[in-house]
Parts: sequence; structure tokens; C-alpha cells
Amino acid sequence: MECAAKGLAAEPCAGGVADRRCGSCGAVAYCSRAHQIIHWRVHKEECERFAEQMRRVNLLSQFPFTFLEPPALNHEFPSARCFFLQMFKLHQKGLWKSECICGSDVASAKDLSIAAEWNLQSSLCPCTEPENPVPAVLASWEDYYQWRSLPLHSPVAVLLHWPLTLYHCLQLYRLQTSKYDGQDTLCIHYLGPEKELLQLATFGELRALFPGVQIHIELVGPEVPKSRDGEVVNISRYARCSDESCCCKSSIGSEDSSCTAVRLKLWKGFYHERCSDIMKDSNPHLIVAPNAGVAAYPSWMPTIEIIRQTGIPAIFTDFCEEAAYLASCCISSITGQPLKIPIQVNPFRQPVAADNSALYLPCYSNCFIFGM
Ligand SMILES: [Zn+2]
Ligand SMILES: [Zn+2]
Ligand SMILES: [Zn+2]
Ligand SMILES: [Zn+2]
Ligand SMILES: [Zn+2]
Repeated sequence: MECAAKGLAAEPCAGGVADRRCGSCGAVAYCSRAHQIIHWRVHKEECERFAEQMRRVNLLSQFPFTFLEPPALNHEFPSARCFFLQMFKLHQKGLWKSECICGSDVASAKDLSIAAEWNLQSSLCPCTEPENPVPAVLASWEDYYQWRSLPLHSPVAVLLHWPLTLYHCLQLYRLQTSKYDGQDTLCIHYLGPEKELLQLATFGELRALFPGVQIHIELVGPEVPKSRDGEVVNISRYARCSDESCCCKSSIGSEDSSCTAVRLKLWKGFYHERCSDIMKDSNPHLIVAPNAGVAAYPSWMPTIEIIRQTGIPAIFTDFCEEAAYLASCCISSITGQPLKIPIQVNPFRQPVAADNSALYLPCYSNCFIFGM
């Protein structure tokens, strides 16, 4: 953890790790008492809020899974996450490649992963059609695993938080599909995709969650590689398992484009720049911006203004409660209204803590959800 006063104080930070934590909130760390005192004029406004957020550490770390969190330190691997993946022999394999710091970035990826696989045996991953119809509501990972007959030691939730979070957003707004050319259709504008661009095959699970529905997702953001702008990706099957004999391996009929249920289209750039073109293709039921970081990137401000003008329901997620809180302030300052969906915990957040936080606040991908 870095000293929270780094760059703010005239004196440079003392060497070594910043392990002196604020005694009131425990969320920030300092290299020295001097830096802690200097930082107080900034921190006093947020300390009580952080303390409140720290009280949710245990709640947020509760998952039904039986796989264990990795130990914080393991010198054979660059990060705890790498070690976690290696426990399942998934480190730098298939869909899991971008889950740790060793992963390739989106720009250098030749293949946007619809060919990538689970690298798990069939009993551990959802590689075929569900045996039972989807229940009216899936409210937790437990519900989802039970429906898909997955054992609680399967790590697939670590990647399936992308489609399940999308499912949960649609449930929150109780959105109905529309008939389009006689087909039930759902259109979603998906803002700011990053590493999920390397895990697009996981969105195939939306076929099981919304049976019989044509799902159109327009993925728009600055991380979409220039060479992919305008590309359409059809997902007509589930990500495959590693069993040679499994029926998910037979290609007969499964690549038939007429039964395509999920159609993704890639757009490079900011939503406020590309919006009028995208709207020509599709008028969305919902706009989603996962792990948005609204307060951290000023480029969100014109995007939020556009969303306000269209009046289309929009949902944001973020890693930690503080990011969600700061985002809600930004959004309300533009709309002049409170959030339509107040900040709440996403039951389908990623079940492994994010390791990119600058604070000790609990931090998970897609952790908090709120809507305008
Ligand atoms: Zn310092
Ligand atoms: Zn504090
Ligand atoms: Zn790694
Ligand atoms: Zn299979
Ligand atoms: Zn559409």
C-alpha cells in the first residue's frame, strides 16, 4: 500500500512500506506520523465515511463458495491472484488469461476470446444448455450454481460476474423485452469495456439466462482496439469445457448463425462521441457501465449528460463503495436528482477481491451497483 500523503507533502515519503494505518477508519496508510498529520486536512472529510464502509468488510467477503482465498504472499507468483488461479491450474489459460497482472492487454490480443475455453472439466463449468428452465429470479450465486448444477468449488463465478451482473441490472429495472421482427429482443449499450473484451465468450451464458431472446450488446469505449471498431461478434454457443467427449465439442448445428442469440458489436471511442451512430443501429433498453470510475475520469461527464438527455435507464457499477459514492455525487450534480437506484451491493460481484486498490477499503469487480 502506498502512503496516502504521497505527492501532497513537501517531504518525500520515508522508505519501506507504508504500514501506519489511520486509527479511526483503518482504510488509509502512511509512511510516517508526519505524513499522517499533513494528510489530515484532506482525510478528515472522508475518515468517518471510510470507517462506515470498512464495517462492511465481512458482509462483502461472504460467498457460498468452498474455494479459499489465496494467501496474501506467495513468492513463486507475482500476485495472490496468480496463485489463486494456479490452484485450479488456470493461470494464464484460456478465458482466465486476463484475470491477473501477467495477462496480455486488449490492444495486443489477436482473438477477442470467443474461441477461448473454460479449461475446466464439464462438471465444473456451464458448457451446455441448462437442464432446467431458468427460475423467475436468481438472487445470489447460490441460486445460480444450483440452477446450473455446479458444485460450490467451481471457480466459474470469477468470470461469470460479467453476464450475471448484466442479468441483475436488467432485473433491477424490471425491463421487458420488445418484439423486433417478431423476435423478443433486448438491446444494451455497454460502456467502457476493458478486460471483458478478452472474456467475451462468457457472455454466451446470457443465452441460458434469457432463453429465446435475441440479445444485442453494443460495446463502446476507448479500450476497444481501433482495428476492431465496427466488428460484430456473434456468440452462438457456450464457452467449452476441457472434456474431449463432451457434447459441447460437437460443432454440428451449434455454429448455425440463424440461432444466434447474443450479438455483440464493438465501437471504439467515448459514448458521447459515438452515441448518435450507435443509436441509428439500436435504441437500447438499458445502458450499463461496469466498473466505471465516474469520479476518476472526467470523460464520463459529457457521457452522463447524454444519458440524461436520452432518458434511458442507466446502471453503473464500481469496485468500492467510496468510488460509488463519489460517482453518485457527480451524477446528481449533472441530473439535479437523486439516484433512481441507490447504491447497493451486487450479489453477483466477483468473488475474489481486486488487488488494484490504493486503499484498504473492500474492493471487488462489479461490487456496488447504482442507477440514474
Ligand atoms: Zn508518506
Ligand atoms: Zn481515517
Ligand atoms: Zn499471473
Ligand atoms: Zn463441455
Ligand atoms: Zn439491437
